[in-house]
Formats: sequence, C-alpha cells, structure tokens
Amino acid sequence: MPPSATPHMTPEEFRRYGYAVVDWLANYQRRVESFPVLSQAAPNSTRALLPAEAPQQGEPFELILADVERIILPGLTHWQSPNFFAYFPANSSGPSVLGDLLSSGLGIQGMLWATSPAATELETHVLDWLVDMLDLPRGFLSSGSGGGVIQDSASSAALCAILAARERATEGATNRSGVNQQQQLLAYCSSQAHSSIEKGLRVAGIGSANLRLVEVDETFALRPDALRAQMEEDRRGGATPFFVAATAGTTSSNAMDPLDRIGRVCNEFGAWLHVDAAMSGTAALCPELRFIHKGLDYADSYCFDPHKWMFTNFDCTAFYVRERQRLISALTIIPEYLRNQASESGAVWDYRDWHVPLGRRFRALKLWFVIRHFGVEGLRQYVRRHVAWGRQFAGWVRDDRHFQLMAPAPLNLVCFRHVGPDDFNAELLRRINQTGRAYLTHTRLSGAFTLRFCVGQTNTELRHVEAAWLLIQQTAAQMRLEAAGHNSPI
Ligand code: PLP
Repeated sequence: MPPSATPHMTPEEFRRYGYAVVDWLANYQRRVESFPVLSQAAPNSTRALLPAEAPQQGEPFELILADVERIILPGLTHWQSPNFFAYFPANSSGPSVLGDLLSSGLGIQGMLWATSPAATELETHVLDWLVDMLDLPRGFLSSGSGGGVIQDSASSAALCAILAARERATEGATNRSGVNQQQQLLAYCSSQAHSSIEKGLRVAGIGSANLRLVEVDETFALRPDALRAQMEEDRRGGATPFFVAATAGTTSSNAMDPLDRIGRVCNEFGAWLHVDAAMSGTAALCPELRFIHKGLDYADSYCFDPHKWMFTNFDCTAFYVRERQRLISALTIIPEYLRNQASESGAVWDYRDWHVPLGRRFRALKLWFVIRHFGVEGLRQYVRRHVAWGRQFAGWVRDDRHFQLMAPAPLNLVCFRHVGPDDFNAELLRRINQTGRAYLTHTRLSGAFTLRFCVGQTNTELRHVEAAWLLIQQTAAQMRLEAAGHNSPI
C-alpha cells in the first residue's frame, strides 16, 4: 500500500523520505571505497531483477529505496570512488549535489529570463566569476560583446561553436537555406581531438568528409605548420576554411595544442577558433598552471567542464563566446508563444538562444554552491594535489624499468605502458580492473596500447594513488612470472 491516501507525496512525506535519501547518499559516500570500482555486473543482470511490467498501484517509498541498494548498486561503476582513475574524473561534491537537489526541487525552467530571472542572472554572474577565477580573456565577460552560458556537455558546446562559426562564415545564409552545396565549408582539428568535433560537424550538416584531421607532433599536439599548409591548399582549391577546434588537454593523452600559433593561423584565414579544454580547463584555477591557456586570447569560443574536474556533478559545461550575437543569430527563432516584454526590451538575455534545447535546468545553482563552499583557494588546493600526484605517479613510472611513459604528463593524466607487446598490456589492464581495487582505461598512442591513469576524483588521497601503483606493479610482476613459466604467486 502507498504510505498516504493520495498518490502524490505530501511535504511532510517529502521531508521524511528526503532525509532518508540524503542518509543513504551519505552512507554511500562512506562505503564507496569498499565497492569494486568497475561494476562486475553481467549483461542484463539489472533487468533480470526488475518486474516485467510497471506497478499498477503506488509502492511504499522504503521499498523503492531498498531496491536502489538491491538492484541498482550492483550495476554501478563507482565514478565517485577514490580509486577511480579511468577516462576523466566526473567528480562531484556535497555542495554540488545539494545545489542540484535544490534545482530539482524548485523545478523551474530557465529558458527565458522572464521564466525565472534569478536563474539567468545567477548563471551570467557565476560564469563571469569563472572568467576571473581562470583568468580567461576579458572578451568573454558579459559586460562586453561576449558572454558565457552553461551547456549540458562539451559536445553541445562544440556543436554550438560550429553553428556560430557557420553563421559567421555564410553571413546567416545557412540559417535560411541550409548548408549551401556551392560553398564548401571546411573544418580542422588534430587527429587527437575529441570525437564530439566530428559529431558536431555531422549534426550541423557540414559532414565528416569536410573535416580535416591535422597531424600532431611528438607530444601529440596539433602542428600549426601542417594546419596552415592544409588550409592554404584547401583555399586554393576554392573551399572556405571556416572552423578550427584546438584542444587544451586531449582526451587520449592530455596534449596541449599551441593555441597562440593556431590562433594566428585562424586569423590569417578568418576561421573561427574554438578551444576545447573539457577536463584540463579547471587547472587554470591555479596561476602556475595557466600555461594550458597560452594564446586563448585568439579564441572565438571556449569551453571547459566543471562536471569533470571542478567538483560539480554532471551536467555543467561552461561555454564562452567572444561575440554572443553570432551564437544568438545562429540559434534564435521567436514564436509568438515565447514573446514577452522583457525579451523585447533588449535588456535581458534569454539563454534558450544560446543552445539547442528550449528548456533548461537551473544548473548555475550547483556551480554557485561549489564555488561558495570551497572558495577559489579551496578549489585550487584540490587541483594542486591532483596535479602533484599525477606528476608523482609519472615519476614512479619513469623510475621503473618495466614501464615507459608514452606522453608528457603536464597535469593529472599519465599515459604509460609495460614494456612488451600490446596483449600483455591489455591483459594487465583487464586484471587490474577485475580486482575492483582500481579502475583505469586505455588509449592507443603511436600505435601502441597505452594505459591511462587520471587523478581527479574528489576524495582521492595520496594513499589511493600509491595503492594503485603497487597494484599495477604487482599485477605486472605476477604476469611476468607466469610468462616465464613460474606460476608461483607474488
Ligand atoms: N572534449 C574533450 C577534450 C574531452 O576529453 C571530452 C570527454 O572526454 C569531451 C570533449 C566530451 O565531453 P562531454 O561529455 O562534456 O561532451
């Protein structure tokens, strides 16, 4: 039987169950280190525990919460475990979760300024704070012709950058008549750029075939000379180089594209420069790590993900443009039912015009909570620890003759492998992850299977990094023994 006569939850019930959920989450935070980081669930094991049909009658909340423990928990990979070193962090924090809860509880739609003025104004304000906090170009501030907006992901930010660039290159013609087959628009990024660039080009109707993948140097950073040569050749052939995506911290290896030299090439060709600093942008909180943004003044647009490394739970991408009018022209359509006095006065921003969806959650709340709770100095301390431990880990790899570094490790991501064949490394990774005591992922660099170790989870301590390295070393030693025909345990 449902706990109340009415099917919905009364405020008193909400209070009681709300406390229960927060208690459950607080206990989860305490327990998370004890779970296998990578879910050990077999395919369909979650569905096998779910009833075939939705319940006809409401069920007690206690039962629903108990099923989170029984059904959901075993099927989770624990991104908030301090032993999570895979992909990139998706680190969260108490203030962020509570800010997000508030956003859900308020349940507002911030699509127009008028639909909740505080949502728009807090967002603009917090994004201006971030310009100062990361020492981003002043042109991104809302007080000039630029501005920032929260997007759901770096992928959406890339798409919006492409749309704004397309609008600029065609003076709005593509908005009216679609991508013009007469004018070949070409985009550029390095072979190491994130797949979201290509996806954005597909969605924007530019197409994968009109993306040029530019060579990288020995640090896996885009080569500006190769970019210029390619753009020149394309322009001679009658095409329009309209968009360049540079990366500050590539996904594979944390390579830093030289933004200043790329920016100068973009200027020569009148191409839009978008800088994707998805994970690594957070490092710029620390003045000594701002080398990652050298040359960012050339950027027409920029994004980084507080939902990766800045203690703000997904989704929260900070996206900036230097000329907001380009973005707005690319995306605005005003149907009668959205007309209102405030918008027409020109005195307010309507963020619906800054991304693809109309509706938008109040995401600025969690960012505001995080920044106020940690303070800029508090955030810096965490980032510095992660970077110091990343570099320490790289030092351990360097000092072990059985392992080799595969790329520079400027921040918190270390790419390395065991000397020897790919299948040894793939098996090493499988065994490490199977223990559940750490979770790493891989990439391929210079053609070789490479392990990635990324430090950035909110609760990771040095002891977790040390334990993971010991696990890697011991697992590899065991495999070497096995390969030598001794099956004795280490
Ligand atoms: N760009 C880079 C450099 C990334 O590392 C990632 C994620 O790994 C992305 C973009 C995509 O991020 P999102 O999930 O926010 O779209």
